[in-house]
Amino acid sequence: MADFDVDLFVIGGGSGGVRAARIAAGYGARVMVAEEYRVGGTCVIRGCVPKKLLVYASRFSHDFEEAAGFGWSVPEPSFDWPTLIANKDREIARLENVYTANLEKAGVEIVKTRAVLENPNAVRLMSTGAKVRARYVLISTGAAPNHGADIAGLPHVISSNEAFHLPELPRRIVIQGGGYIAMEFAAIFEGLGSEVVVVYRGENILRGFDDDVRAHLRGEMESRGVKIITNALVTSVDKAGNGYRVHLSSGGSLEADRVMFAVGRHPNVGGMGLETAGVKLTADGGIAVDEYSRTSAPNIYAVGDVTNRIHLTPVAIREGHAFADTVFGGKPTMVDYTEVPTAVFSEPEIGMVGLTEAVARDRLPKVDIYKSVFRPMKATLSGRNTRVLMKLVVDGSSDRVLGCHVVGHDAGEMIQLVGIAMKMKATKADFDATMAVHPTAAEELVTMREPVARYVREAVE
Ligand code: NDP
Repeated sequence: MADFDVDLFVIGGGSGGVRAARIAAGYGARVMVAEEYRVGGTCVIRGCVPKKLLVYASRFSHDFEEAAGFGWSVPEPSFDWPTLIANKDREIARLENVYTANLEKAGVEIVKTRAVLENPNAVRLMSTGAKVRARYVLISTGAAPNHGADIAGLPHVISSNEAFHLPELPRRIVIQGGGYIAMEFAAIFEGLGSEVVVVYRGENILRGFDDDVRAHLRGEMESRGVKIITNALVTSVDKAGNGYRVHLSSGGSLEADRVMFAVGRHPNVGGMGLETAGVKLTADGGIAVDEYSRTSAPNIYAVGDVTNRIHLTPVAIREGHAFADTVFGGKPTMVDYTEVPTAVFSEPEIGMVGLTEAVARDRLPKVDIYKSVFRPMKATLSGRNTRVLMKLVVDGSSDRVLGCHVVGHDAGEMIQLVGIAMKMKATKADFDATMAVHPTAAEELVTMREPVARYVREAVE
């Protein structure tokens, strides 16, 4: 131990790294965290947190529209983007300070620098040139936006990173991509008053989500005015006046004030000396790790998006915690990646946990599907043409609920709780035995009596 300056050197002060550092320090480890940008990482600085603040902002417009049906007369509302961005930035700065203070309180030393591995036990701090000898190293450098194909005019395109700091709200925006970020920013900009066009290369948005969810969200977003062009790619972007002309593979072009791509994210693995330290990558470019997040170098671990497992903050946090328990707490801990609940903060929201209908039917001989599509109570007076979708995917043999899918207001809040029931292996009978909370939308999850479909796979002789 005496040969090392620290017991743990963490490269990357985001969700996974910060959690690992604090827990390891709690076990008595001497910990140093290097962060070259801002403490808090993508989630806090330019991901989940600022995104959710923009989501809140964007939803007021719908509330103003809907208020009249409840007797309110709302004067013509006006919106000021710079105010929102300044307030958001103030909150993010506060959170960054909280993260920093929590690390310091735990006795962790923070160094604001890029850190490069010189060998498995030595890290060079690029800001000062100092060398730190570390018993263990944790890599938690996260991921960064992909740019997609190298098309003409790519420098005109922004990613979510820049979207958080635009000087003004674009009147018209084209967003390429059909995943989480594209849907969330399409909803944000639509709610704030922009004309939004989504361009997606496949048949329908949100590949990997349940097909009913995909169709439902698309319909809802289109009815709110988001234009969704599928089976198309952006082939080039030209400057046109104060804005841009966006050319599509399907023919034709679109005019926009901003063009944003949300076409996935890649692990941040460059310029860190990984090869020198003997850290291997997977075929898809993430750091290869075992079930304890250990890399090919025995004293180096990696957690979070840089490992390209599940790109979700709570997963990175869990991995960071499990790493610290394993290495410094004497409690070898693996992360359970089953039934991870997730939400897309589109408008309306999506909440999902477990299997889609397609996956369940592929894997299981008997599958029962319960589904309800209904008008939420608020819409009866607000007059909004909207529907909620709730769907349960049930194992027809064991009666276990294997998947739950919700599209509607507060779906993210609902799915967190359904996730507990599913983790406890709840059956459809358990859902049925649960008393409804009335009047709520969520009660529909415990009142769906008859399956809308029962699939039984023919036995192959
Ligand atoms: P996603 O993987 O969700 O979506 C990427 C989208 O881009 C897909 O529609 C994909 O199409 C499309 N795409 C990929 N490559 C190209 C290309 N070369 N040209 C055109 N389109 C392309 O990634 P995001 O960037 O939206 O988000 C990254 C990750 O961050 C998410 O997977 C998620 O795990 C996480 N995240 C989570 C959030 C949350 O929890 N609410 C919010 C935001 C992000 P195809 O489907 O055909 O491959």
